[in-house]
Amino acid sequence: EESQVAYQRVLLKLSGEVFGGGKLGVDPVVVASIAKEIAEVVRSGTQVAVVVGGGNYFRGAELTTTGMARDRADYMGMLGTVMNSIALQDFCEKAGIETRVQSAINMAQVAEPYIPRRAERHLEKGRLVIFGAGSGMPYFSTDTVAAQRALEIGAEVLLMGKQGVDGVYNKDPQAHADAVKFENLTYDQFLTEDLKVADATAISLARDNDLNIVFFNLSVPGNIARAVAGEPIGTLVSR
Ligand code: UDP
Repeated sequence: EESQVAYQRVLLKLSGEVFGGGKLGVDPVVVASIAKEIAEVVRSGTQVAVVVGGGNYFRGAELTTTGMARDRADYMGMLGTVMNSIALQDFCEKAGIETRVQSAINMAQVAEPYIPRRAERHLEKGRLVIFGAGSGMPYFSTDTVAAQRALEIGAEVLLMGKQGVDGVYNKDPQAHADAVKFENLTYDQFLTEDLKVADATAISLARDNDLNIVFFNLSVPGNIARAVAGEPIGTLVSR
């Protein structure tokens, strides 16, 4: 059964924990299956850009418990996202689509520099664009970068793919059996309830620029295509 493709250009955020399958490093089975889903969506004609997280390697805030300075720890975190970007690139090319990695920290041997207009040109040619190294700036998260990149390349929606959680809940559903899922939320509700699935900087950037965000479960096969088709899976955060 053919579902209607609602979006022409999307920004897909993949959190790092997805790549590791809950562990440190890259889980090839998980990344290969996500790559196959992305490739199908790209082949169907939707322009897809991806921002990858790095939580399967390092999170700067957690590294500071070792005594490291936050800014250096954050650079380590950003470099982890580049490793995920290269892994995703490889699996997506094996799945038969053209890809480009653009890094916010220059490393010409493995990635193009972040050049937004070139990224848009890649998208128009049907290439998947993977944004690595976050913003290149400490004290930011890849969620915030995902909102920023979505805005800069003119994506119609930010699709936040989460590991094993099918949307935004009033409290952590893995810790509380009575947690309630929101189908829809306004930006202001999200911020005043201090919900933890994305950081407040990302949500307020989206609010100030009217960017819709959909939180959905990446662990269900086919969900990337469903989110791209505009099916009401997960939680929609909007005005
Ligand atoms: N990071 C950063 N600036 C950015 C994006 C990321 O300093 O613009 C660092 C930060 O230390 C963060 C780590 O990279 O903890 C990994 O990113 P994130 O925690 O957002 O990954 P996710 O939770 O999505 O796996």
